[in-house]
Amino acid sequence: MYDALTTRYAFSCPDRGQARVALSSFRRIEQLPGATHPAVFEVDFDCGCGDRHPGLVTHDELDWAPLGLAEGVFLNLMTSQLDAVEDELADLAARRIGAGEWPWSFFCYPEERPRPIFPSSFFLLAPAQDREAVGIAVRCPVCGSVSVNLVSAAHVDVPFHNDAQIWIVEHVFQADAERALEEFAAELYSARFDARRLSL
Ligand SMILES: [Zn+2]
Ligand SMILES: [Zn+2]
Repeated sequence: MYDALTTRYAFSCPDRGQARVALSSFRRIEQLPGATHPAVFEVDFDCGCGDRHPGLVTHDELDWAPLGLAEGVFLNLMTSQLDAVEDELADLAARRIGAGEWPWSFFCYPEERPRPIFPSSFFLLAPAQDREAVGIAVRCPVCGSVSVNLVSAAHVDVPFHNDAQIWIVEHVFQADAERALEEFAAELYSARFDARRLSL
């Protein structure tokens, strides 16, 4: 479940009961085979308790809830205020997308251009060495290749916050998840990053 007010996802934590984490605390996002209506994603996230746990999110929660656009809105009489905020958010999001702004973007290295994406295109995330930036491995929705970008946490967590400049690894990654994971870890800490402008 996603909370638009705090931009946090709620999962269960075996230690503390509930964990509220931002998208940038996700470490792996993988669509489960089979389930398509709705599509379900398995994630690993770094929890406030210090451990890493698995969790499940639907496609709606992952890509649409941060924009206030989730289908099957969670109805709770105690949250009429939140519902109003979500309506407003949805309105605003629709207008900004209509005006050519995009909630999330990344730089596709093989294509040498920025591309709009949704969180479901992120498949690996890791804190960078200085802990302030986040390394993201993204599968390009257009060309299918994998690129690694270094971005701010806000770039990941806050819809429509796109860093003006991001850092990329000039490396074409393996498309299969297992190999990409190894290469991701190796490249992320190699500090061989190059700057790119992200204006779409
Ligand atoms: Zn925990
Ligand atoms: Zn691409």
